[in-house]
Amino acid sequence: MTISPSIMTTYGRIDIAFTHGEGSFLVAEDGKKYLDYASGIAVNAFGHCHPKLVEALQDQASKLWHTSNLYRILEQETVAEKLVANSCADRVFFCNSGAEATEGAVKVARRYAWANGEKERTEIICATGAFHGRTLAMLAANDRPLFREGFGPSAQGFTHVEWGDIESLKQVIGKHVAAILVEPVQGEGGARKAPEGYLKLLNDIAKENGSLLISDEVQIGMGRSGTLFAYQKEDIEPDIIALAKGLGGGFPVGAVMAKAEVGDAMVPGTHGSTFGGNPLAMRSANAVLELLLENDFLSNLRKMIVYFDKKMDELIKNDMRINPIIFAKKGSGMLRGLQLIEDVNAGDFGNIAREKGLLLVGAAENTIRLLPPLNTSKEEVDNAFDILNDIVLELKKT
Ligand SMILES: *Cc1c(COP(=O)(O)O)cnc(C)c1O
Repeated sequence: MTISPSIMTTYGRIDIAFTHGEGSFLVAEDGKKYLDYASGIAVNAFGHCHPKLVEALQDQASKLWHTSNLYRILEQETVAEKLVANSCADRVFFCNSGAEATEGAVKVARRYAWANGEKERTEIICATGAFHGRTLAMLAANDRPLFREGFGPSAQGFTHVEWGDIESLKQVIGKHVAAILVEPVQGEGGARKAPEGYLKLLNDIAKENGSLLISDEVQIGMGRSGTLFAYQKEDIEPDIIALAKGLGGGFPVGAVMAKAEVGDAMVPGTHGSTFGGNPLAMRSANAVLELLLENDFLSNLRKMIVYFDKKMDELIKNDMRINPIIFAKKGSGMLRGLQLIEDVNAGDFGNIAREKGLLLVGAAENTIRLLPPLNTSKEEVDNAFDILNDIVLELKKT
């Protein structure tokens, strides 16, 4: 079967269609079962069809789907209060995707400066390797010149500094800077964890300069770091946080979270979203938050992360014995990567993994990303690493 020509060709799709999913597994049309360690690119935080998520959506589906933000949405207030109670933020705006969350975050930062009478403070500092989404403005925030090609003039007001290099930030920081926008762990950029102390320094410099810090936690947020938010591991308090991917556990939902003073720069009419925070999305997000916050889930997850890390070390140790193909262990929490040597293509690695029933996803820097569901079991982890060991052995031979 070939892909329908009615689909716009924005993706180079793999010719597999899944018919259903259960937990960490996906089943394709031909009945083949896959261990899904791509999780829809860090979206299915609790795997597929988690009973609690199914129940929440089914219940809401029979009551009320959409009303609009013209009215109070009680489910939205519940989720916002949970996010606020468990973070440094005080205000939440709901949207439907990651790019809307990062772009909304930039709007909030600029508007806050403007509301304080600092009309010239508009610049947003981003890092090399950054990925913040695909809207026209976020194309300028990304460090992906190819993504901008053919799309006309770039949005103004975005500067890039060398990821991990404070000196390069010091050269461009100034009173014109509204915010520093950073991913605590770069996902698309190659599962790159910020160097030790980097985020703290960014935060200090932002604050000394009267600029805001925006933590783009679209991929690493909602537990994937091992804490509810990635910034919580760093002894900092960002002024704005962007969320999406895992937040709805598979239902499209994003959020912009902000400190009170910053969020209050947004007054009626300054921003909006027709669908943002509708009851279905909010019931999904609420169920995800309950799963993350109850029954010691996060402390158990941290133990699994330690185990996962140990398995990565073992894999690399085995690989190192002869003709290593793994160049580096990358990432953090449950956003991990294996950077491969130049001669071995991460795409080929992913293809072999898929043939062997393991779904992974590529990233920049010839890195293959591992994004397991956060509730994956020890057996599944062992199973995945058996397959990874096989692939590494196989690739050595060729
Ligand atoms: C995926 C991603 C985005 C964009 O999210 P979309 O839902 O695809 O718009 C933004 N920032 C980061 C860090 C991401 O990983």
